[in-house]
Amino acid sequence: MTTETAESTGTTEDTTEVRPAAVEVHDVHKWYGAHRVLDGVELTVRPGEVTVILGPSGSGKSTLLRVINHLEKPEVGYVSVNGELIGVRRHGEGRETGVLPAKRRGRLKELSERAILGQRSRIGFVFQNFNLFPHLTALDNVAAAPVATGKLTKPEAQELARQLLGRVGLADKAGAYPRQLSGGQQQRVAIARALALRPGVILFDEPTSALDPELVGEVLAVIKDLATSGTTLIIVTHEIGFAREVADQVVFLDEGRIVEQGPPTEVLDHPKHERTRDFLSKVL
Ligand code: ADP
Ligand code: MG
Repeated sequence: MTTETAESTGTTEDTTEVRPAAVEVHDVHKWYGAHRVLDGVELTVRPGEVTVILGPSGSGKSTLLRVINHLEKPEVGYVSVNGELIGVRRHGEGRETGVLPAKRRGRLKELSERAILGQRSRIGFVFQNFNLFPHLTALDNVAAAPVATGKLTKPEAQELARQLLGRVGLADKAGAYPRQLSGGQQQRVAIARALALRPGVILFDEPTSALDPELVGEVLAVIKDLATSGTTLIIVTHEIGFAREVADQVVFLDEGRIVEQGPPTEVLDHPKHERTRDFLSKVL
């Protein structure tokens, strides 16, 4: 949720063009063999904004998140995070955008492989199935990455982990192992773990769809708290009510294409496309 506006900061200056986009996805195409999974996706996410991605199963939502996190390389197109362009790929015939002179391509690619690791450490990823380390306590799950990446000493990371577990309402579960926690608690640990790297953006891939219904609310409440505190979030979810509450923009993906995007009042309440209407009628 974008909370800071020109009015609230007491200036009339429009700063939105000055700050780079938190995430920019430009003309991304991705194939698995002959199967085209992403077909020219364009997406801009501004700092502090919450983007909700909707779409039927198999429409490419997870692949899009994996491309943003550089877990998958697009065949065409690029992704930039905080204005840092990496992962330039060849473009189709006649496409100019993003194409580098051939002699610079090798160098950029080499740079980008190194940049990928740096960039990934600034992108949090929360998975459907939590993916906690089973042999580590909640505290150590949260503290592990800042220590492994050399950002913090172990005592510093553990102090941060305590604070973050407090923030997700699990101060009393620091010593618990994942198997001793409910799904909702495990997912809240996973969110604390994502926050521990102080990411510029957090990606959520259906964070509540593996949970029993009575545990969904506690996880959505934590995500909503992040949304209102200005964290940049990209969330794949089928929770339409939640999307309406927190999203600045809603993106409807179908067969690898963005069919419709805009504020929730447009896409959810007044969808223009038949496919969006059809999808919403099934999930609502
Ligand atoms: P969604 O998250 O919207 O359900 P995905 O991005 O997971 O969709 O998948 C989009 C399509 O790509 C699906 O048809 C899926 O079967 C296919 N796909 C995803 N990952 C792979 C992979 N690693 N290899 C081959 N096909 C894949
Ligand atoms: Mg998926």
